[in-house]
Amino acid sequence: MKFISTRGSAPALSFEGALLAALAGDGGLFMPEVWPQLKPDEIAALAGLDYADAAYRVMRPYLEGDPCLADLEDVLSEAYEGFHHPAVAPLSQIGPNSFVLELFHGPTLAFKDLAMQVVSRFMNRALRRRGQRATVVGATSGDTGAAAIEAFRGLDAIDVFILHPEGRVSDVQRRQMTTATEPNIHNIAVQGTFDDCQAIVKALFGDQELNARLGLTGINSINFARILAQIGYYFTSAVTLGAPYRPVAFTVPTGNFGDIFAGYAARAMGLPVQRLVIATNLNDSLPRAFASGTYEPHGVIATASPSMDIQLASNFERLLFELAGRDASRVRSLMEDLRRQGSFQLSQGEFGQLREIFSAHSAGEDVTEMTIRGVFEETGMVVDPHTAVGIAASQQEAALGTTPMVVLSTAHPAKFPDAVKRAIGIAPAQPERLTLKLGSEERCTVLPADFGTVADFIVARAASPLTGAEA
Ligand SMILES: *Cc1c(COP(=O)(O)O)cnc(C)c1O
Repeated sequence: MKFISTRGSAPALSFEGALLAALAGDGGLFMPEVWPQLKPDEIAALAGLDYADAAYRVMRPYLEGDPCLADLEDVLSEAYEGFHHPAVAPLSQIGPNSFVLELFHGPTLAFKDLAMQVVSRFMNRALRRRGQRATVVGATSGDTGAAAIEAFRGLDAIDVFILHPEGRVSDVQRRQMTTATEPNIHNIAVQGTFDDCQAIVKALFGDQELNARLGLTGINSINFARILAQIGYYFTSAVTLGAPYRPVAFTVPTGNFGDIFAGYAARAMGLPVQRLVIATNLNDSLPRAFASGTYEPHGVIATASPSMDIQLASNFERLLFELAGRDASRVRSLMEDLRRQGSFQLSQGEFGQLREIFSAHSAGEDVTEMTIRGVFEETGMVVDPHTAVGIAASQQEAALGTTPMVVLSTAHPAKFPDAVKRAIGIAPAQPERLTLKLGSEERCTVLPADFGTVADFIVARAASPLTGAEA
């Protein structure tokens, strides 16, 4: 299997190449050159397997002929060993034909663990095989940084530098990051905003000399390996509810469009997904595009579901590539419109296809809070604000007859105790593993929001040099 760029002018790479490069050389995102197909009997045969075994069968066709295939079985079994639920991604029922898929049983209590634990292991093994080192640099508003640090701590071929805005992440989020004491983990608290952190990271990637010297790589959801590791739970949950004989619908709390794109991939592979519902908070550029066919991101609004406080959904470019019949020149022209005029307009055909598969609804802050309360009163279940946005969106979707609706629950309520307490009057129970971690000593360096200072800090501490930065 080869991976091609959505912008059409970068060379196709193997899975291992795309994994380490993260972003294609022409600024596009990697996509598999074809969608592998699972036949109905292969889908049915996933029933009852351990999560890691089912994920293996879903991911394997993407790694055919790649050196990473030999790692796949061990990577998956190691990645999910540390989860605190034997099913890894269990389903629970909250209403007639209405289910919640619990994706928060990993070490940092958010769904990002499901993919990050896999990607970190693939990267470390690939680098060792090549005799190389790499440097992961990322900006975070909380969850991604915590999941990345937890997944990469102690690995020997990768240094990790995570920038967060000083004083602007929650206590729980900060401590999840700064209590890692392994020498390959470096926390930088930037005296500025999340946008300052992101601008510094972008500038680092844009500096060719630094890039080559440090072997920079990215682990946010523009890396196709992240998406790939998220396809598995669409299959396992759908099979539990009767697929391939019965179609299933999903509602996905959405920020960067990575998680829901994994649902699209599952559908493209043959899973009978009747509908994919995009759920957003007040940052509603996607639901607005569903009304008009025009995608026009506005400024970011801070909400109680901060991991979805994103207007520019990077992975939407992957869906555009599909809607445009994989015409890279069309993607280039839409992305150019977005850059020049801050918006783009879908064609009739693209818009029609989008609406055939997807719907989109946004939930405001009051509705989110009422949903946390409503679910608690009706079922006794405590859900976090991101999950509540998903449940609220699923309730706006027209009934789908006998098709079950699965809402992805992306974070544990204990990560957002204040919002939960506001809604139901009591704080969510804190899992013991979180309590232990939060008591430990913190390690973090405060730096000004200045590119040169941050770059010098990274160069001085990264254990590179890298031998040959070709990806
Ligand atoms: C990252 C995140 C999301 C959004 O996922 P995308 O793949 O960016 O759409 C939703 N909920 C939580 C809790 C997250 O951490």
